[in-house]
Amino acid sequence: MKAHLLTIGDELLIGQTTNTNAAWLGEELSLLGVSIERSVTVGDEADTMRRELDRAYDEVPLVITTGGLGPTHDDVTRSVVAEYFGKDLVRDPELMQRIRDYYERRERSMPEKVKALADMPEDFETLKNPVGTAPGLWYQERADDRERILAVLPGVPPEMKAIFNAAVRPRLTERTDLRDVQHRTLQTTGIGESNLQEEIGDLSDLLSDTLHLAYLPSTSGVRLRLTAYGTDPEAAEAQLDRLEARLRERAGRYIFGTGNDTLEGVLGDLLRERGLTVAVAESATGGYLGHRLTRFGGSSDYFRGGVIAYANAVKQSLLGVAEADLIEHGAVSKPVAKRMAEGVRDALDADIGISTTGIAGPGGGTPEKPVGTVWIGYAGPDTTAARRVHFLDDRQLNKELFSTSALEMIRRHVLRRAAQPDA
Ligand code: ATP
Ligand code: MG
Repeated sequence: MKAHLLTIGDELLIGQTTNTNAAWLGEELSLLGVSIERSVTVGDEADTMRRELDRAYDEVPLVITTGGLGPTHDDVTRSVVAEYFGKDLVRDPELMQRIRDYYERRERSMPEKVKALADMPEDFETLKNPVGTAPGLWYQERADDRERILAVLPGVPPEMKAIFNAAVRPRLTERTDLRDVQHRTLQTTGIGESNLQEEIGDLSDLLSDTLHLAYLPSTSGVRLRLTAYGTDPEAAEAQLDRLEARLRERAGRYIFGTGNDTLEGVLGDLLRERGLTVAVAESATGGYLGHRLTRFGGSSDYFRGGVIAYANAVKQSLLGVAEADLIEHGAVSKPVAKRMAEGVRDALDADIGISTTGIAGPGGGTPEKPVGTVWIGYAGPDTTAARRVHFLDDRQLNKELFSTSALEMIRRHVLRRAAQPDA
């Protein structure tokens, strides 16, 4: 089944809001086997919307829109789609009551404009909104042997996703004209997209029209998405097996998980299984590493706590970093990273100490230590180590990348220990 996406909103055009709806829907729909032929963004402008609807239905049966569904004057999607299909807007009493209840429960008076949220184009269905009052809209018709389906979703991302999952996804999965598609995801970390591609090397003997590989980078690593198309599920599985085997053979040491695994989740399980605890000494990551290590319930099994040692004086007084090392090598250095890790391991009585000391930016870089430089220190039960990594110019991204490197360093060392148990 072929589709067009139409994301609506002036704020998207002028770059005030990043169009995450198009990205999210694009991925979800393609995973379902819907082929997106075009994804268009328009402002809150009725004529343009009409033109895009015309063009879409010339080419495909399914159009999904987001945005402009609210009650304010710039929200024109509702009236445009009603008019496009020649339907009148009719106030839905049940919806009206839900909106009234919403305001009564909150003891707030209902603004007049909000009533527009209960206006439904005739013959349209409402798509239940599990997280808010305003529903999405659904319309389907078959005329002159041509099918036209429209799903109208709100712009607010959590509401859009909730309605899609609750009401659009089930309507689409029951169709028979979806592309037969199977996916598999391998999660890698500790290597950039281009280097990973180089390690993996040529795959032209495997990849084809029916077997695709996508590299999806994020600050936690690069996701490898393997996709096989074909009506024979066993043949598709076999293709995916062959590709996965090749990827593991070439880049296995970077692969930490599959599906929706997260690095912090996989690491947490590994630590729990080995009965090891961790403490963090954070300078450059400012607490972000501790945040990630406590992301999942049950993290007290392996997380002891940490010291946010941002000032050099704290590195000295709480972690035992030597003044001489600070003077001679600077705070962003191997000896300081190592000492921070050992210091926090001992102070918090953990098996493993891990530290970050770096230059997140935007200022503070030097020719020898440019912005994006970080030293990660590791102090395990029997080894101490440190490694330097270089990342970007962006402060927030750097904090995420530094913490990913630290998590990965723990994972590597624990796995290495496991390979030689009583080392
Ligand atoms: P509302 O009832 O809140 O007005 P709406 O359906 O009219 O809902 P919009 O007014 O278009 O939605 O957008 C509401 C919010 O959702 C805005 O903050 C906007 O930035 C955000 N938003 C809209 N479209 C997108 C998009 N494509 N990607 C990410 N965020 C979006
Ligand atoms: Mg709006």
